[in-house]
Amino acid sequence: VAAAAEGVTDARTLWRRLGRAGIPDLLGGGPHDCGPETPPDRLGDLLTELDARLPLGCTLSVCVQVATVLPLLRTLAEDSPAAGKVLVRATRGDAVVALAITDAGVSGSDLLDMRTAITSDGGTARLDGAKEWITNAGQCDHLLVLARHRPQRHITSFRWVLLNADRPGVSCRPSTGELFPGAGLGDPRFTGVALDPDDLVGRPGRALAEAARQLAVERLAGALWARALCRRVLADTHRYLVTRPAGGGPLWTNAAVRDRFARCVVEWRRMDALCAAATGWPATAEAMVLKAACAESADRILGECVQLSGAAAFRDGGVARTRAEAAMFGIAGGATGTMLAGIAEDATGLLGSAR
Ligand SMILES: Cc1cc2nc3c(=O)[nH]c(=O)nc-3n(C[C@H](O)[C@H](O)[C@H](O)COP(=O)(O)OP(=O)(O)OC[C@H]3O[C@@H](n4cnc5c(N)ncnc54)[C@H](O)[C@@H]3O)c2cc1C
Repeated sequence: VAAAAEGVTDARTLWRRLGRAGIPDLLGGGPHDCGPETPPDRLGDLLTELDARLPLGCTLSVCVQVATVLPLLRTLAEDSPAAGKVLVRATRGDAVVALAITDAGVSGSDLLDMRTAITSDGGTARLDGAKEWITNAGQCDHLLVLARHRPQRHITSFRWVLLNADRPGVSCRPSTGELFPGAGLGDPRFTGVALDPDDLVGRPGRALAEAARQLAVERLAGALWARALCRRVLADTHRYLVTRPAGGGPLWTNAAVRDRFARCVVEWRRMDALCAAATGWPATAEAMVLKAACAESADRILGECVQLSGAAAFRDGGVARTRAEAAMFGIAGGATGTMLAGIAEDATGLLGSAR
């Protein structure tokens, strides 16, 4: 990973190098997920190493692919040779694939409201709709799109479409010009895209359930990454405090400063304990607990690190920018509010499973 990240300036080069080094293969292996064949530790190690070396956007680009895209393609390849071919190229680092679930203009938290749809026109299927905030959409070779194939508001009303990014009718504009450089965040639009039978991958009606299952893995990945990021920022902040002259000694000698930093360490140990307890791939509700808890802890820790750094937090590459981008831990892949709603739904089960 260190060699792959060396001198890298864009996520496509990074992905190609990781592919050549066989890193995506190390995480795969199982027919379905990143796990259960692969221990979460490996995914955590990869994200930790990337986080230590690269801007957050580049790590996000890799995270979505290893934790979500490749495992989904593995599942889809069981029924669809077209998905199998893209899987092989993506695993070698020869193709970047974006996962386009979140619809534009509607709450991303309620996927049943999705409007992006496959319709049939005189026997020819076409795709119309728009997505937003899609990682890698601006730098991908293929888009794996979740689309409605029936009007009913039901979990079985969706299926996957796998498209080349340069297909007629597919366009994309950047979601943001400032935050997350390297992530290729984009808002793709599909306007009357004529679909070949090969573009419809996987079994009809299974897509939303498959996405939900894989999102649990992505949520664990996010928690492991948030833990690594917070540890890195805490170590940097500690170095700053012990060297920053103030009055009779460095800031670190001030009892109030030490107390505030110590609270951050306590918060980080909470995150660490939760992550350490996830020795296998989590069930849906467990993943929601992890995601909600780690997002809130990260927000608390990074907010305090901004304050402890003073104005230096706002220098280029400072912790204020990291904090702004890291707020995504509470949004991307499922907002904290939605996680809490799911946790409440399963409260009895979650309490029952506690020892
Ligand atoms: C950096 C980043 C990367 C992303 N990458 C991808 C990607 O690769 N692919 C992809 O498909 N999407 C991606 N997304 C989109 C992301 O998954 C959505 O932003 C997310 O699902 C939340 O949807 P939303 O933004 O529409 O917020 P909304 O759903 O509009 O939610 C807004 C607020 O309302 C609250 N809320 C909504 N519904 C409920 C509820 N039922 N109960 C309680 N509170 C609720 C939420 O908690 C939130 O606080 C990315 C987003 C970001 C920021």
